[in-house]
Formats: sequence, structure tokens, C-alpha cells
Amino acid sequence: MSADKANRRLQYLQAMGIQPWQLRRSVAAEAISAAQTPAGAVDAEPDEAVEAAKSRWSELRARVETCTACELHRSRTQTVFGVGACNASWMVIGEAPGASEDQQGEPFVGRAGQLLNEMLRAIGLQREEVFIANILKCRPPQNRDPAGAEVEACAGFLQSQVQWVNPEVILAVGRVAAQNLLKTDAPLGGLRGKVHRYGDIPLVVVYHPAYLLRSPLEKRKAWEDLCLAQQVISRQQADQIPRG
Ligand code: SF4
Repeated sequence: MSADKANRRLQYLQAMGIQPWQLRRSVAAEAISAAQTPAGAVDAEPDEAVEAAKSRWSELRARVETCTACELHRSRTQTVFGVGACNASWMVIGEAPGASEDQQGEPFVGRAGQLLNEMLRAIGLQREEVFIANILKCRPPQNRDPAGAEVEACAGFLQSQVQWVNPEVILAVGRVAAQNLLKTDAPLGGLRGKVHRYGDIPLVVVYHPAYLLRSPLEKRKAWEDLCLAQQVISRQQADQIPRG
């Protein structure tokens, strides 16, 4: 890693509220992190494949925008489809839009979104390089937890997004996202710190940035979980390196 990049990372860690002395990663992980596929890699695909991918994403977005499959369509300002690189190595999945997301039509905005951006930058990623989505595409009133029927009604949209992005790792952000993706009632504290699976895709659970804003002492654990996810990616990429 260049000195500039290392300095920027220290600044991002400090912005997250983590002391720089905690920054310790393996040389191998750094090297593989630097070699990650850029978000624009889709440009290298044949035109037809790119057009087909654009078309199916547009169709899915249109289906979400007009969806009335659960009661949440009545109270939403707009749907929140998801943003980011459709060929991303990292997929971030949260719970549901909040008030700001409902207004702006984008997941993880506001203070929690800014902290998520800092967390991503701390591991060398720009927000545009990952794909960010939620379990639900419409805001539950008063930000209550999603109801089971709502999750079920909305599940197909997220499943398509995960299938098409086909990330190397999923970050399940917060308790509700983790419990729904892993089909468990286990508390978040028992789910973090491990590598789970969502289908074939490794999944790491991390505290929600809104919680970290209220509980800054937990940021160290969030950093550990981000490093765990980075290790998952590094291991997969190392496995793909041809051996002579
Ligand atoms: Fe449709 Fe999902 Fe919105 Fe419910 S939350 S109306 S299932 S898009």
C-alpha cells in the first residue's frame, strides 16, 4: 500500500472513532485488497451481455417501483431499490429504509450512511465499488422492525440482486438484516465474528452504523468484522491465483 493510501486509511479509521494503533492487517491481505476488481470491470464484458444485464436490472427496478405486494407501499414516499456496482465483490445488506432513505430513494444516507462510507473507506473501498441494498425496499412506519410477511413479500427482489451481483462476500448490517438473511433468532453478538453462508456466498455480520453512532465503543468490533470479511475475500482471491 502506498504511503498516501495508508495515511488516508488512518484518517478514515480516526473518522470511525478507531485509534490508529488498531490498524493491523497482514501483508497478504493488503496486497490482495489492492488488486481487487474495480467497479467498472463490467465494461470489459461483451456489449450484448452488458445490454442484457442493464435490461434485467431496469426491469427489476421497475417491478420494485410499482410493487404493492405488502402494506408498506401505502406509506412509502418512494421505493429504495439499492445502489452500487452490479459486479461488486462486496454486497452490503441492511434492514429497511429509514426516513432519510425514504425521502432520498437511496439506502444508507444520513449520519449512519456517512459512517458506513467511512467503514468502507477504512478497508479501501469507495461506496460506489460495493452494492448496497436492504431486506425491504419500502420504509416501515416509525422505523419499526419489518414484519415476517413483509420480508417474505420482498424477498424475491433481494434474491435477484444477490444472484446477479454474485458478490464474494455479503456484509449483513445490523441485527434485523443478519437474522433475516440467516433465518435465525440469535442475537447479533452471537452472530458477529464468524463467517456464515447465504447460499454459496460467505456472509459476515457487522453492527449497524446507527448503533455504532450510539455505542462508539463497539466500533473496534465493527473493524474486526470488516477485517474478517476482507480476509474472506483475500482467501478466495488467493485460491484463484494459478500456482506454477
Ligand atoms: Fe413491495 Fe417490498 Fe415495498 Fe412490500 S416492501 S411493497 S414487497 S417493494
